[in-house]
Amino acid sequence: MKQFCEKTHFMSKRNLYFTAVLSGICALLLTACGQRVQTVQMADTAMGTIVTQTLYVSADVDEGEAVAREVIACIDALEQNYLSWRLEGTEIAGINAEAGSGRGILLSDKLADWLEGCQKVYAASGGAFDISVGSVARLWNIDKWAVEPDKFKLPTEEALAEALQYVGGDKILLKDNTITLPEKMQLDLGAVGKGIALNEIRKLLQEEEQVSGAVISVGGSILTYGSKPDGGKWNVGVVDPVDTARNIGILQLSGDWCVSTSGDYERYVEADGKRYHHILNPVTGYPADSGLRSVTILTRSGLDSDALSTACFVLGAKKGMELAKAFEAEALFVLKSGEIMMTEGMKQYFYLSNDRN
Ligand code: AMP
Ligand code: MG
Repeated sequence: MKQFCEKTHFMSKRNLYFTAVLSGICALLLTACGQRVQTVQMADTAMGTIVTQTLYVSADVDEGEAVAREVIACIDALEQNYLSWRLEGTEIAGINAEAGSGRGILLSDKLADWLEGCQKVYAASGGAFDISVGSVARLWNIDKWAVEPDKFKLPTEEALAEALQYVGGDKILLKDNTITLPEKMQLDLGAVGKGIALNEIRKLLQEEEQVSGAVISVGGSILTYGSKPDGGKWNVGVVDPVDTARNIGILQLSGDWCVSTSGDYERYVEADGKRYHHILNPVTGYPADSGLRSVTILTRSGLDSDALSTACFVLGAKKGMELAKAFEAEALFVLKSGEIMMTEGMKQYFYLSNDRN
């Protein structure tokens, strides 16, 4: 209380005026449509990762929670109907099963759209981002690292060399909504699935009039949507790769954005005293080693942010910067040296944590 009094005491007249105006705006916002804006928070798992949601809704908490459940159902449906190569019955599993058959597979409009988006990033990144990396990714058995780290076996050079023969996005035949894969090629949309989910979630929220704002995190990809009831900015933390319990800084954002981070600390395994992470260089078949610890991409499209974060991690800061610019995306790189590099446009959003100044 004492502190509060002192703070009020030192407030200038101008500040008091702003405070009064802001409070008025907040009160109006809180009573918009005659209903208080409620905050609904939910944490869950979907797509093999943690999903956290904060929704601002002009409705009962129950209705807000129903929207949060719809968001989870939307992510589950994406994984189970379209994207997972591991689950039977998905569109991707069906395409992979036909690799080498010579038959063109008719795609759903959604998947055709996503694959086209992936192929744009493939071409622009010179193959650094490549959804045909499946045969190599399977050798690394990435999705088993967290559950059975002791069972990890380093793939042999021979096995990697063989698997690399079946990698190459330029050999994917994508035309008139049909796709044909060459023999043994396997698609893996792990680098872009969470970003695709963000785009789908945003469409879902746009149909829910009672949702005025939301921030939803699906693993390393985060969607900001609409606005906060108090008119403040969204704060999106950028994880410190050296100490993942901390942020190296935050992005302060207004409105609708997608932020994706690819980092060597997200998923890794150790063998013979060496650490291996999950972002592969499609040329060598080994974890990419381009001098980076993480890349954060800020853009409007989740597919782009997710695909570009993976591509930029493989390319390194210099080429990654050019790639991000080509997609009108902002990028922030944390180098192994600890140095932070970013696009000019990112500087208006990024605030370094105090203890890094
Ligand atoms: P992300 O965490 O978004 O960078 O995606 C990494 C995941 O995408 C991995 O777990 C692999 O399944 C897959 N992947 C790894 N390297 C690549 C790459 N260079 N291009 C496309 N997908 C990749
Ligand atoms: Mg990615």
